[in-house]
Amino acid sequence: MNAPTQNPFSSFTAPGVAELHPYVPGKPESELERELGISNTIKLASNENPLGPSEQVQQILRSQLADLARYPDGGGFSLRRKLADHHGMDSDTVTLGNGSNDVLDLIARCFLYPGVEAVFSEHAFAVYPISTQAVGASARVAPARNYGHDLDAMADLVGEHTRVVFIANPNNPTGTWLKAEPLRRFIAGLPGHVMVVLDEAYIDYVDEPDYPDASLWLTDFPNLIVTRTFSKAYGLAGLRVGYGLSHASVAELLNRVRQPFNVNSLAQAAAEAALDDQEHIRRSVLMNRQGMTQLISGCEKQGLDYIPSVGNFLTLDLGRPAGPVDQALLREGVITRPIAGYGLPNHLRVSVGLPEENERFLAALARVLK
Ligand code: PMP
Repeated sequence: MNAPTQNPFSSFTAPGVAELHPYVPGKPESELERELGISNTIKLASNENPLGPSEQVQQILRSQLADLARYPDGGGFSLRRKLADHHGMDSDTVTLGNGSNDVLDLIARCFLYPGVEAVFSEHAFAVYPISTQAVGASARVAPARNYGHDLDAMADLVGEHTRVVFIANPNNPTGTWLKAEPLRRFIAGLPGHVMVVLDEAYIDYVDEPDYPDASLWLTDFPNLIVTRTFSKAYGLAGLRVGYGLSHASVAELLNRVRQPFNVNSLAQAAAEAALDDQEHIRRSVLMNRQGMTQLISGCEKQGLDYIPSVGNFLTLDLGRPAGPVDQALLREGVITRPIAGYGLPNHLRVSVGLPEENERFLAALARVLK
């Protein structure tokens, strides 16, 4: 495919699209197997749940197959009500998305346009710059502090043209996180014309006493939007379902630009069943905790630096360009994620996998770095 700027049609695009660099997803195992003619590859590149979806979810999915000729419920009535109950809120505060990426995009389409600005941090999740640029708005990027969000630096960039502030807590790809008190103070200090988006995709994995559940702040801040996903601890990345929680009047705006059937019927049914199976979440979180310990101790044994992470992934500082290391790992059948695109060319992100996958990654890494 042509690079974006070489495309002969790029001069006809909406502002921003011509210079847009598309999101680079983790390589699928099937692609690597096709390319190298090998089998038995492992993917630790997209922060997925290595346990997969719960048995209960799989059963519900099978029972839904006969109805696939029907359109899904475009309003997502049942799932929204279930999510509202789960969070102790009203259904009209919930916006469903085709993954939480979709919700981030709806926010950009609602509140960003040429001439206004979004503020986010260096090394923050890649969809913030993409969604901002796609609608022709400008990005103000605050320098990171210790790889994480520097709220003072971000506050300095907020001005009369700012419409959205994106914050990932915890952040991907760094695994860094923000404590409740400074974050709450930051939000309280924002002018009312600025929507603040707290992206909590990895919230289920966090076990820190000062870590906030920002959904509890929604009644205090009408300009707050919290995004969540079923792609991580809930193990439904392939179905694409996420949601936003906000003041009802904000959700009403987001729902204006939402496509009517953005969340398919299997995804809606699976998300409901997944919410009912909190035991699966506990199992997944426990396995992640043990896997994180395994990865950290393996990296320490190899003398490798890493960024302490509260998510389901660990970002290693290899002290040399990570691209060739990634390529060598691919030849070992291990897919990880180099993150030069996030301004971290010497870092490699690895998702926490099953114990045997973590072991295989560590062994392959030791061979490759020798
Ligand atoms: N936010 C963050 C911080 C993420 O890392 C991801 C997934 N990589 C998402 C949002 C989007 O996930 P999804 O669209 O699958 O919900």
